[in-house]
Amino acid sequence: MSDRRGVKDEDQPLSWLPETWAERLSQMGAPAYRGRQAFEWIWRHDARTYDDIGVWPKGLRQRMAERYPLRRVSEIRVRRGSDGTTKLLLNLADGERVETVLLPHDYGTSVCVSSQVGCNMGCTFCASGLLGRVRNLTAGEIMDQVAAASATHRAAGGGAVHRIDLMGIGEPLDNYDQVVRFCRLAHAALGLNLGYRHITLSTSGVVPAIYRLADERLPITLAVSLHAPNDALRLRLMPINRAYPLARLIPAARYYFEQTGRRVSFEYAMLRDVNDGPATARELVDLLTATPMAWHVNLIPWNPVPEQAYEPSPMAEVRSFRDLVQQHGISCTIRRELGQDIDAACGQLRHREEADRRPSRIRRNPPRSSAGGQSG
Ligand code: SAH
Ligand code: SF4
Repeated sequence: MSDRRGVKDEDQPLSWLPETWAERLSQMGAPAYRGRQAFEWIWRHDARTYDDIGVWPKGLRQRMAERYPLRRVSEIRVRRGSDGTTKLLLNLADGERVETVLLPHDYGTSVCVSSQVGCNMGCTFCASGLLGRVRNLTAGEIMDQVAAASATHRAAGGGAVHRIDLMGIGEPLDNYDQVVRFCRLAHAALGLNLGYRHITLSTSGVVPAIYRLADERLPITLAVSLHAPNDALRLRLMPINRAYPLARLIPAARYYFEQTGRRVSFEYAMLRDVNDGPATARELVDLLTATPMAWHVNLIPWNPVPEQAYEPSPMAEVRSFRDLVQQHGISCTIRRELGQDIDAACGQLRHREEADRRPSRIRRNPPRSSAGGQSG
């Protein structure tokens, strides 16, 4: 496979696992241990160029720079929120842009990475889909977002990254091979050495890819964007529900749990008078209790996107919804609102930049037929 610049995957050194580095360096006539050094220097010591790999001989650095240039991402903008959230707008080698967010938690820091430039799923409440998908990211470009965020964090006196969320721009399972390779890169002992459990992948529900991921037995944490307990409402919010309705999605999530032993969580963005009423909460309870499993529901206060005509649910509604779901024995929490003052909704910062930079790219979602329609 090759990207839009005609650079083949196998020629993208940032996407190489340690064994690939060893192979390529052997082909260049260098000992295999030079490969382990490269991986370690790039991902642990933030070598930006081959010249930063101090333990390498000069000739090897030059030959590698000519044959396999390191195309690292660069920072365009950093925005710090009042709550410690930091959002980075990053430039890729071909001039495309993605967003990466650093989030502080009690237990440490997590980084939320993008998996595609834009998104094709067209969810009607999200900023990422407004521009469609431009291209997939390579595993190395996803990994480099973590490195860029970590470097920014360290420069501000922060510690190591503890968790990675594949919850930025894009549908990770629409870029399956690169995303799985990215998980292996982040897990590699010579680099970040991050446990698979500390990687969370959020999907809009690409059912065949959920089965495939379950069979990889990695076992990363899976989050499924549910947002509605019935097909009619979910279809209004998420066009993917046409191809993969709830009767296919829930069994896929159960299969993931059975294969990996990892509790699956459902994300549910709270939209005022759309999916936040008590009747909808009861419907959600019925849906989940029909398949008794260790489910978890994560209610997300909706981050307003001016182009999308919704309103966030009042917090009182969000709490009542949580209480009702919990009363029926289903674990349910409200996600802390982070980065409200820095356009933290995924895709918002990039969308705003693109609107200024390349107005011809801006397309709007078709108008929705009705604004109401809550079941009860
Ligand atoms: N494409 C993947 C992952 C990225 S979005 C997915 O859809 O799951 C991460 C989560 O944020 C998803 O649950 C998504 O539905 C939700 N989301 C998107 N836009 C949002 C917004 N403006 N406010 C709150 N949540 C949003
Ligand atoms: Fe894409 Fe996820 Fe946004 Fe839907 S919610 S448009 S799948 S990024």
